[in-house]
Amino acid sequence: MLQSIAQDILSYTRIFFNKNNELKSIKWMNRKALPNEAYCPTPIEHIANIITHGIWVMPSIMATMHMLDRAHTTPQYVSALVYGATLIFLFSVSTSFHCVFYCNKHRNLKDVLHRCDRGMIYIFIAGSYFPWLTIEQLPNEGWASSMNWIVWVMAFLGIVYQQTFHEKYKTLETLFYLFMGIGPSLTILTEHLISGITELSIGGLLYVLGVIFFKCDGVFPFAHAVWHLFVVMAAAVHYYAVLKYLY
Ligand SMILES: [Zn+2]
Repeated sequence: MLQSIAQDILSYTRIFFNKNNELKSIKWMNRKALPNEAYCPTPIEHIANIITHGIWVMPSIMATMHMLDRAHTTPQYVSALVYGATLIFLFSVSTSFHCVFYCNKHRNLKDVLHRCDRGMIYIFIAGSYFPWLTIEQLPNEGWASSMNWIVWVMAFLGIVYQQTFHEKYKTLETLFYLFMGIGPSLTILTEHLISGITELSIGGLLYVLGVIFFKCDGVFPFAHAVWHLFVVMAAAVHYYAVLKYLY
């Protein structure tokens, strides 16, 4: 047992040291992927990708428990469960995908998790809207009144599209993420004023800035890990707003 742990640790340190225990020159970045293929991160980029989402799995479970603690009404309980679950799944699916990708042993599992990781983005966007469309009183007419189910239809269509054209037309898919993230919020805000607009806009802006890094794999090192950090910051701002205005 101890020997196998020692071997594991040794195999991980080989990223940094060669057989003579001399510090290796670290490869910070691989070449940019061709249009219809996925970027292949270097070992150090893989580790950064795992850590930047992995450390948020436990805090998102605690965040969900905290919302459940503060809930008094049924919409608050339901929102805590739905929004909390999407937070937990976003970080745990992403971390699982990046771990399996790094191990590079289970290609099929990696492909399934990659599809789930991308699909989770649509579910997470719908989940982030959920408390605002469930706890807040929506208007009786107009697009905003139906937005609580429209976002889930968008998530469903997004996932169908993403599963059908996985890793093809990637720029179009990014535009879908942006459309689903921004479109409903503009509709809601033009028809109906909700509290927390400043925080929600800051969070939204962080997601949009993050997308720039999402598209920069192979342009500079750690671009995907930086994208992860923008997701973390944006999700934290939105969570803060949910707690402040809805619980
Ligand atoms: Zn990722």
